[in-house]
Amino acid sequence: KYHEEMAKRKKLHNIVQETKGNIRVFCRCRPLSKVETSSGCKCVVDFDGANDGDIGIINGGTAKKTFKFDRVYTPKDDQAEVYADASPLVTSVLDGYNVCIFAYGQTGTGKTFTMEGTERNRGVNYRTLEELFKIAEERKDTVTYNISVSVLEVYNEQIRDLLATSPSSKKLEIKQAGEGSHHVPGIVEAKVEDINEVWDVLQTGSNSRAVGSNNVNEHSSRSHCMLCIMVRAKNLINGDCTRSKLWLVDLAGSERLAKTDAQGDRLKEAQNINRSLSALGDVISALASRSSHIPYRNSKLTHLLQDSLGGDSKALMFVQISPSDNDASETLSSLNFASRVRGIELGPAKKQVDTAELQKVKQMLERSKQEAKLKE
Ligand code: ADP
Ligand code: MG
Repeated sequence: KYHEEMAKRKKLHNIVQETKGNIRVFCRCRPLSKVETSSGCKCVVDFDGANDGDIGIINGGTAKKTFKFDRVYTPKDDQAEVYADASPLVTSVLDGYNVCIFAYGQTGTGKTFTMEGTERNRGVNYRTLEELFKIAEERKDTVTYNISVSVLEVYNEQIRDLLATSPSSKKLEIKQAGEGSHHVPGIVEAKVEDINEVWDVLQTGSNSRAVGSNNVNEHSSRSHCMLCIMVRAKNLINGDCTRSKLWLVDLAGSERLAKTDAQGDRLKEAQNINRSLSALGDVISALASRSSHIPYRNSKLTHLLQDSLGGDSKALMFVQISPSDNDASETLSSLNFASRVRGIELGPAKKQVDTAELQKVKQMLERSKQEAKLKE
């Protein structure tokens, strides 16, 4: 039954892929919290059309605004359900595609829950790595995979390496590594051999996110947490070599700060969040209008994602929302942003060929052919 369901989803994924380009948007709504329920908050979300990807926000009793997404999750849908839909996309990194997944939304709507999850209720990050290792194991007779992970944080337009054992005094900067490819020299790329190592690495990253900040929640709502999974693949049968990456991004909260709140450091933070989220919006708009210049360099966030967002890559956005009437205006603004993202039509994704490695493999194959000839 499970396999049947997965096969159905993979098929659906392929159809969507062919007809719709490579960016899709899933909308996830968290449950009303205990505090919200006990303080009389009402749910403003209409899930009647959820199975068809429709979601409605009931605004002021009569007016209802509806939106369409590739998937809509009700508060009852669990982590496994959500991951099952992301799975075909994330695993395509093993076939050489660059992939980017990001969770967008107001603070407290479940971005971290969806991406990181909890130890008992693991999220997309862990489930992705778990499946990558499973597939790599299944294919080990035909393809050799080399998987490593980095965990970064972007806070106030500064990149911090969350896997570094000692804080580096040097500022981390983004360097152009090859055509369209970017790299941050000096960051830790933890080589992970199997899934048992993964949870520890992810926890290390998650824990160091809080270090040095006096309010953990506040800090994480103002910074972007970015997990990068790098995959090198060598096909032992046909010699294909690819080098691709998967970004899993837990974005800073999208809420607008009340004007009166913003002073000093808070103001600077707010401006930097606005800057990177609006830079993300600008990149998406430029992609949507097929502009010849895509302004990736206007923020660290978009610069890091440059080779995995747009162009040859595949992208998925989780737009996270709150069901509460208290949050209705932020919810509408998130859904409007997400609708714009969904409107983008990109061309087909392309595999990221590892040219240097491919050259080596070709020469090796050539040499062994020569040797075979000599022996004859
Ligand atoms: P964000 O990262 O967007 O600020 P969190 O992931 O921290 O939000 O979620 C806020 C709270 O809501 C957490 O206590 C989290 O466990 C809970 N929560 C979020 N989404 C869900 C969900 N789908 N089901 C159950 N609880 C959820
Ligand atoms: Mg969070």
